[in-house]
Amino acid sequence: MKYGIHMPQKGGFARNVKRAAEIGCQSLQLFIGNPTGWNPPRPEPEEAEKRRQLLQEHSIYPLVVHTAYLINLAAKKEEFYHKSRRLLQQTMQNASQLGSPYVVIHIGSHGGKGYKEGMELFIATLEEEIPNWPSGIELLLENTAGGGTSLGGTFISIGNILKALGKEAPLGVCLDTAHAWAAGYDISTPEGLEKAMEELCEHVGMEKVKVIHANDTGTPRGSHRDRHSHLGEGHIGAEGFKAFFSYPWPEDLPVILETPEMGSHWDAINMAKLRFYAGEQEL
Ligand SMILES: [Zn+2]
Ligand SMILES: [Zn+2]
Repeated sequence: MKYGIHMPQKGGFARNVKRAAEIGCQSLQLFIGNPTGWNPPRPEPEEAEKRRQLLQEHSIYPLVVHTAYLINLAAKKEEFYHKSRRLLQQTMQNASQLGSPYVVIHIGSHGGKGYKEGMELFIATLEEEIPNWPSGIELLLENTAGGGTSLGGTFISIGNILKALGKEAPLGVCLDTAHAWAAGYDISTPEGLEKAMEELCEHVGMEKVKVIHANDTGTPRGSHRDRHSHLGEGHIGAEGFKAFFSYPWPEDLPVILETPEMGSHWDAINMAKLRFYAGEQEL
């Protein structure tokens, strides 16, 4: 596996790359610009080149870009919907400029207009947007905590999106352990994991899973609430992660931490635990 961490905005790009390398990361996830803002920066080509070199010097690949939280391609309000499309388009361009192969997006919320309509809009929007993306980059659909008006809490629903857009579409999946747990999947026992993986393999396909977000969670299974914990300190727990990592995941799969207090001494602690649970080192 390729271990990585989500780095907060503060500190800047260069410092975050160095910090990730210092704690042994081979991968890194970032927001480009403000995660709660509509306007992403447009880096100058020279600056982008410097950033690509920096990633190479520190042997960090892949860089994973997470879209801003505001993006909702199934939004009920027209203004948000159009802003979401523009921001996704710009994020794909910016990520490609940095040499990133993956952009992660939350499937969004239908905002009360109904599940079917929300899904149809999400799919139709991607169909229109995909031809505008730079080549060599994929959009990864992240599973959500589900519940309420949110879309993409089940592997079946994610599979339906992938099937609707066809095998050749530049789309993949980012599997978030805390979100899967909140959506009701018991990934903390070998039996529960087997069942969840059966559903994932049948409807999504393992070859579509391109990134894992390894997060523990402070909310009960099936609660549809999302609150990340330090690894081993939440409901999934140490034994749960050991079970999760006993699955034969692809060798080079990036596994990224999005644990609390990112950018602090906790990063190294969570990274050590992640490697321990994956059977790669002693604690
Ligand atoms: Zn996310
Ligand atoms: Zn996540």
